[in-house]
Amino acid sequence: MVDLQSQYQKIKSGIDVAINNVIEQANFINGPEVGEFRIQLEKYLNISHVIPCANGTDALQIAFMALDLKPGDEVITPSFTYIATTEVIALLGLTPVFVDVLPDTFCIDPSKIEEAITPKTKAIVPVHLYGQCADMDSILEIAKKYKLKVVEDTAQAIGAEYFHKDGTVSKAGTIGDIGCTSFFPSKNLGCYGDGGAIFTNDAFLASSLKKIANHGQVIKYHHEVVGCNSRLDTIQAAILKVKLPLLDSYCAERNKVAEFYNNAFKPVSQITIPYISTYSSHVYHQYTIKLNGVNRQELIDYLSDHGIPSMIYYPLPAHKQGMFKSFGKENQYLPITNQLTECVLSLPIHTEMELDQLEYITKHIIYFINSFA
Ligand SMILES: *Cc1c(COP(=O)(O)O)cnc(C)c1O
Repeated sequence: MVDLQSQYQKIKSGIDVAINNVIEQANFINGPEVGEFRIQLEKYLNISHVIPCANGTDALQIAFMALDLKPGDEVITPSFTYIATTEVIALLGLTPVFVDVLPDTFCIDPSKIEEAITPKTKAIVPVHLYGQCADMDSILEIAKKYKLKVVEDTAQAIGAEYFHKDGTVSKAGTIGDIGCTSFFPSKNLGCYGDGGAIFTNDAFLASSLKKIANHGQVIKYHHEVVGCNSRLDTIQAAILKVKLPLLDSYCAERNKVAEFYNNAFKPVSQITIPYISTYSSHVYHQYTIKLNGVNRQELIDYLSDHGIPSMIYYPLPAHKQGMFKSFGKENQYLPITNQLTECVLSLPIHTEMELDQLEYITKHIIYFINSFA
């Protein structure tokens, strides 16, 4: 699905020097590269505060902790997402309230948010799934009306741009109160281990987020609030410093791959290619098609037999996961989420894809559909 080895080969000299520097200096924890990367990312995102942390799941957890949500408070989120988004909500004793997604963008459907709001609702968590932003203008309007906080899960959409109705442009993750991202190796901006970051323009929230990520302390050994230990390793920051300047070109490479797939699949009536909304660019963390009248498992097996990986993101939506059994949500009415779970398929997409690979993949998919579907 990704080719991190080929990507590394192209940037090997810069990466090796960066890693070696950290080892030579032995500044493994909170070395200067962490602060340098933080400033670099603040500039790239055009945001006042970036707080690096250990991974994307921690980023979300720390965000909810900083918003001072109390057990029993409700958080509105899609069920059609990676489990981390909803897991930390439950971990903190908050109640996830699942809202269905739009069938075309795969992101939370703003028109279904208001009916899910109760006096206990405190926050909305849009997930910019597969690399395209949710409809943030509509979400912000609802949040303002009901005085709710907005935490963006932009683990899959770093680098994507959101086009506001008023003509301004924001980077994904800088639109709500807090943005959370992940630098997991396969993410669009991936390090060589775990990593994550939290973004905000609010100085008060920034100091709170920073404190919570650092054992609840501002002054060493004075722990004001319950926090956690969530740091970005210096080695990972050094790697990210080399890779961030390449992010836009990486996104462009992914867009080229998507364009190839789109052109190949446009004439195929059994395949719905990704939809591009008017309000967001797409950074194609995943290239995800919808199948119609095709046996998905047979296609997956056929591709696998020919050395082509494909994945279902995600085969079981959050509301049907065992971990949420006690919330009694498994029979919740989320028709679009259930339907997408049955028909989505993600294809290989990364920064190093060659034309012959793309031709091989599309040829086999189209051959399977024409022969067996
Ligand atoms: C990857 C991901 C996360 C979690 O990030 P980790 O760094 O793996 O903890 C959260 N949300 C979404 C949507 C993701 O894709």
